[in-house]
Amino acid sequence: MYIDTHAHLNFPEFKADLDETIMCAQAAKVCAIVNIALDEEAIKFGQALQRRYPHYIFNAAGIHPHEASRWNSSVEASIKELALEKQIIAIGEMGLDYFYKLAPVEIQQNTFRRQLQLAQAVDLPAVIHCRDASQDTIQILHEENRGYLKGVLHCFNGDMELAQAALKLGLLISFTGNITFPKAEKIRQAAREIPLESIMLETDCPFLAPQDFRGKRNEPAFVVKVAEKIAEVKGISVEEIAEATTANARTMFGLR
Ligand SMILES: [Zn+2]
Ligand SMILES: [Zn+2]
Repeated sequence: MYIDTHAHLNFPEFKADLDETIMCAQAAKVCAIVNIALDEEAIKFGQALQRRYPHYIFNAAGIHPHEASRWNSSVEASIKELALEKQIIAIGEMGLDYFYKLAPVEIQQNTFRRQLQLAQAVDLPAVIHCRDASQDTIQILHEENRGYLKGVLHCFNGDMELAQAALKLGLLISFTGNITFPKAEKIRQAAREIPLESIMLETDCPFLAPQDFRGKRNEPAFVVKVAEKIAEVKGISVEEIAEATTANARTMFGLR
């Protein structure tokens, strides 16, 4: 069994065939999907989806670094309420993205800090996005860690300095389809080095389809390709990868 710990199921790419997509995931032995909702509409969508697929779809809510300017006290209050009502199992994704820099750096940092504080206040894991911002991410994680920090560095890009810092803080690392790309040797090397007890799987769908489906829409069923690649580089069976990463995700997100 696999868990796709990071999917964006409200995206228009799934509009025509979401139920079939979920059936495909179930057929591929994906036993749970964490849907990452990044605005109010996505949260409502995720809640409806969870009602339709109880114990299968779980939701996280947060403000993406691209949209960091949207953070304010009412957004904070509504995410906090979702957490306290146990409608969500994680806060995020949150973090820093200096590659696109769609929001000013200072605002990204502030929104990231506030969400790290919130995650610890409500005792939920933080789903962390970091692109071209390793140093500032490490610094902010250290500064905002109140001793209750837990979470995952998602869509890991192979930066071992960032990985080491995250592992030291007790965070997990999740790998997505880009580990299968021919040029991704750095990511595969990282997967070799990072202990299995700190790894989770994700798709980040509809983005980052694995090499076999490159250029097409990614979907939760393809998380198996990520597991196969990690199994290959670690020289262990895909069943071991499935079992360990699923156990890690269940513990991290408190799933039964
Ligand atoms: Zn991300
Ligand atoms: Zn994402």
